[in-house]
Amino acid sequence: MNYRHAFHAGNHADVLKHIVLLAIIEALKLKDSPFFVLDTHAGRGNYLLASGESRKTAEAEQGIFRLMGEASMPDVIEHYLRAVQAGNPVGALVAYPGSPLLAAQSMRAQDRLAACELQPDEAQALKSLFAHDSRVAVHARDGYSAMKAMLPPRIGDTRYGRGLVLIDPPYEAQDAEYPQIISHLREALGRWPNACYAVWYPIKLRRSLQPFLRKAAALPAKSLLLAELQVRPDDSPLRLNGSGMLMFNPPWQLDKALAPALPVLKKALGEAGATTRLEWLSLPE
Ligand code: SAM
Repeated sequence: MNYRHAFHAGNHADVLKHIVLLAIIEALKLKDSPFFVLDTHAGRGNYLLASGESRKTAEAEQGIFRLMGEASMPDVIEHYLRAVQAGNPVGALVAYPGSPLLAAQSMRAQDRLAACELQPDEAQALKSLFAHDSRVAVHARDGYSAMKAMLPPRIGDTRYGRGLVLIDPPYEAQDAEYPQIISHLREALGRWPNACYAVWYPIKLRRSLQPFLRKAAALPAKSLLLAELQVRPDDSPLRLNGSGMLMFNPPWQLDKALAPALPVLKKALGEAGATTRLEWLSLPE
């Protein structure tokens, strides 16, 4: 397991993923009843952009930094930028928040987050980050097995009928990751059918994704929405040319909230030949 998210924090893929994550959480907050978030592949939770890892790849410069200077953004992007800025000095960007930190900052007192991270150092950093937040439980364990063990969520006497599972694996061995995602999703959808499940996936060569997307569309979810941002044509199997989010059972009108954001992301983060896609793979009834 070599992957370290510090090399990639704040890149175009994080920008898309975290905008979607926060848009889903905002929608969950429209009802008073508590919700539960499971972050299966959580990372360390906060990343210093001046770290050696971050400076080596300079990926954040092609991602979050390009958006920071833009004025008058669609609501979901404004909301995301405010959330990123919240952990930074005014007008500066020294740290980039990971998915569990963004989720926790956005959740209310009654909501709960379970964050899983397999890499011991990353899990320890995440535990320290949330040492004083009793809404958050950090588990140094495999996130896929946590989907089996923790869903449907119940903490004490509270059963959570609604919530979100974020699945954001490193795809170190792509051929192995896709079948794992599909089989764990199938099982989880059976046991916690009303939750939203958001899966991040890389786009290197688009055509290689087709079998995965076909299998995803055949899963027993009520609906499936896809959002993609490709920052350059997918002409190289070696580069991260873009990424997508699959959203099973997305909240009502999430597509409408995301629609104005994608062209703005394409313009701000894209090179020549950049494209976006927002599409229902299976429609809500
Ligand atoms: N979700 C994070 C965010 O948006 O800030 C980034 C996560 S990063 C893409 C993937 C993380 O999953 C890495 O920190 C890696 O150590 C961890 N990981 C790899 N395999 C895992 C597994 N089976 N279960 C839990 N975590 C795993």
